[in-house]
Amino acid sequence: MVDQSPALKPDCAEGSRREAELQALYVISQAANFTMPVDDIMELIYTQLRRVIPAPNFYIALANPEKETLSQAFYVENDERLYRDQDWSYAEGMTGRIVRNGAVIRTTDYLEECAVRGIEPSGKPGKAWMGAPLLGEDRTIGVMVVSSFDPDIVYTEEDESFFVTVASYTASALYRRQLHEHLEQRARQLDTLNDIAALLTSTLDIDHVLDLVVRNAAHLLNAEAGSLLLLDENNGDLVFRISSGPAGQQLVGMRIPAGKGIAGVCFATNEPIIVNDAQHDQRWYRSFDQGGDFVTRSLLAIPLNARGRTIGVLEVINLKGERQSFSPEDVVLLEAFGSQAALAIENARLFTMTDQALRARVEELTTLQHIDRQLNATLDYRAVMNDTLTWAIRITGAAVGLMAALHEEEDRPPGLQVLAYDGYPPDVLERYVEEELWPLSRGILGRTVLTGETLLITELGKNTLNVELVPGMQAKLCIPIRRESRVIGVMALESPDPTTFTKEEVDFVTRLVDHAAIAIDNARLFEEVQRANQAKTEFISFVSHEFKQPMTSMKGYTDLLIKGIGGPLNDQQQQFLNVIRSNVQRLDRLVTDLLDISRIEAGRLRLEMSDVSPQALTEEAVQSFEQAIAEKQQTLELEMAPELPTLHVDRGRIVQVLMNLLSNANKYTPEGGHITLGVEPCKRDGLPHVCWRVEDTGIGMPEEELAKLFTKFFRGSSPEVRNVKGTGLGLVISRSIVEMHDGEMMVESTLGEGSTFSFALPVARS
Ligand code: ADP
Repeated sequence: MVDQSPALKPDCAEGSRREAELQALYVISQAANFTMPVDDIMELIYTQLRRVIPAPNFYIALANPEKETLSQAFYVENDERLYRDQDWSYAEGMTGRIVRNGAVIRTTDYLEECAVRGIEPSGKPGKAWMGAPLLGEDRTIGVMVVSSFDPDIVYTEEDESFFVTVASYTASALYRRQLHEHLEQRARQLDTLNDIAALLTSTLDIDHVLDLVVRNAAHLLNAEAGSLLLLDENNGDLVFRISSGPAGQQLVGMRIPAGKGIAGVCFATNEPIIVNDAQHDQRWYRSFDQGGDFVTRSLLAIPLNARGRTIGVLEVINLKGERQSFSPEDVVLLEAFGSQAALAIENARLFTMTDQALRARVEELTTLQHIDRQLNATLDYRAVMNDTLTWAIRITGAAVGLMAALHEEEDRPPGLQVLAYDGYPPDVLERYVEEELWPLSRGILGRTVLTGETLLITELGKNTLNVELVPGMQAKLCIPIRRESRVIGVMALESPDPTTFTKEEVDFVTRLVDHAAIAIDNARLFEEVQRANQAKTEFISFVSHEFKQPMTSMKGYTDLLIKGIGGPLNDQQQQFLNVIRSNVQRLDRLVTDLLDISRIEAGRLRLEMSDVSPQALTEEAVQSFEQAIAEKQQTLELEMAPELPTLHVDRGRIVQVLMNLLSNANKYTPEGGHITLGVEPCKRDGLPHVCWRVEDTGIGMPEEELAKLFTKFFRGSSPEVRNVKGTGLGLVISRSIVEMHDGEMMVESTLGEGSTFSFALPVARS
């Protein structure tokens, strides 16, 4: 509190004044040595001062040399302590002059003195006025002023000398105090710096690190906000990653070209920048403040350097508290922090990158595995091309793409046949799908095939080789499809964005194409095999038809001769004709089987469906075997369920199946053997079926032959089989017929013991 004891009158006795002065100075000097709060020091100074000289008005103002302003630190008016939060420029009033010149001003009339000195008066002008500079070690730190509104009061030379002495004590106390505070702050900052260093290395999560950096930078510099921009290596832009100001969230993701704006210049020059009046700085992007009341006044930007590279820019914005401007000391502090921060960011980034790279690799492998499975699941050449293209477009984000295969035929120049395309208008590519080949001399596509090298063109407009298929494309990626060392085709991808195809993507698509190449080649081989097969089927079908007719007439005439229609026959003739008939029948069987097979393979076997009872089918087949079974003294046992549902089948074809199974049982069962034919209702997949079972006590089959059963022309290798006539087509045809009826054929066999062939046909749903 202010000591209200009245000041000594100027006319007090000489001795007591001197004593009062000494006492006051003693108290002040003592106080200056203690570390007491600044405000208490100033209060004490004032109290002691007014013991000696009249001081109804008194103030201590502190100078801000950067802004050339003064601000009230302690203020008394008419003996009353007031709290003024007021700044004024050096140009106003006499105080600025005192700070600049470091000289005392004493006057009996403030306004007059101002007029004489050509100074604009300021504050509440009193009469007597006296101001002294507060001189620190290297600069004037402020002004101390005493004044009075009372015209009777005059400051004497003696008053001035005492006042100046008090001012010097005051200055030294304040200066020491300021120094102490400054040192304390530095110590605090260094402590914080250490803490932050530990904190920064405690995490490798890049987002967390960036957030810590910005928050702690602002805290360290006592700033309102902070921003962090990192270099985008793809195009050299700086991107706002974190911004802690009120409009911060809107800034995140915004880009600044290198060299532009304060951050851009800081980055490009790799030098710190202090801007203490951002609003008047040409480089400042005003738009960064938009979206709130936030106004950037002062700003300190430093480049972030790690491992010899500049990786971004760290900014702190608007000092909090009394200081308005960032100082070179702040730069040193922020740079010390920045070097640690940059390293932490770089470490986290590298970690994230390795982590990401690993994840990307796993993802890639999974994708390739998926693609492999998809590619291997089909032997359809075009489907493989389509799948590969779809994946490539998905991975790269290309807008359009095509795949083409190289054709090198003898009768025309080599060229590319388009097998799949996506995104192109059909009219530009359709003719290369069927009729024409895309010449190898044409475009980047052809060049890729000729050179066998991947081509990535990013300025398509400027490329004279390019053939524009769709307008607006900027980048084109052409990858040759290779099989061993041969180029067998090409993939082309295009995008309107020149940055679409990154190195990683090119590598990935290359690997994808390598995988696809195998599948493409397989599919191509398969297509060739299929073509050959088709040709063979057509040939067999043609030949069989040609045979059929003469054989029918041979069979007919032999029968007529045997029946004696051409005249009586002796025994030998009869015997010869029987041999002819049996061989013609065998030929007929073969030709019929061949015809059936070729029809089945060409998908031309037609079924003539009708409702038939399983009993009727069974009896029809059995009848024609009775003789053959009797000839080998075999027994045939029929196990027919009493009630069987009617089937909707091709009668002739099912009888053919049954006859084939009975014929095999008869042929591959030695004399005296036993054959069982069972017919019964059964369920397969919960649906009603009728099941036939032909069981014999014959020669059976070894495991390895069982596996080959149902392949064309397969016949067992044992002499018992080889001695019997057969085509090796019966079972293949039989199973196909059963399957065409949505049925299933099964076999069980034990060598030397016998075989069981069975098949089930679904009961037609009413
Ligand atoms: P084919 O009887 O004209 O040789 P199939 O296709 O009917 O032709 O039969 C193929 C082969 O399967 C036969 O050659 C024989 O080796 C074997 N096979 C078929 N049925 C039986 C069976 N019931 N017992 C033993 N082997 C059989």
